[in-house]
Amino acid sequence: MKLDCKHVWEHISEYIDNSVDAKLREDIERHLEHCEICSAILDSTRNILVLTADDRTFELPVGYSKRLHERLKEEIEKSKQEPPVGGPK
Ligand SMILES: [Zn+2]
Repeated sequence: MKLDCKHVWEHISEYIDNSVDAKLREDIERHLEHCEICSAILDSTRNILVLTADDRTFELPVGYSKRLHERLKEEIEKSKQEPPVGGPK
């Protein structure tokens, strides 16, 4: 089964939190291996979470989900305009 980018984005924070099941985790990892967009999103999401952990409050920064949501929306718009990268060889 090929995982859709939007599907990855829906579960990316759970993936980072290790709260996805093994099957979904495997699917996401397989997708990340060849999807630059999702890898970039994972990286920036992780950076936000690292900053949060350093703060020792374990509260998400104000506007965190809003910013992430906007970023994802941006990527969705971009992916609509451009043909998908890394198609079948
Ligand atoms: Zn993707």
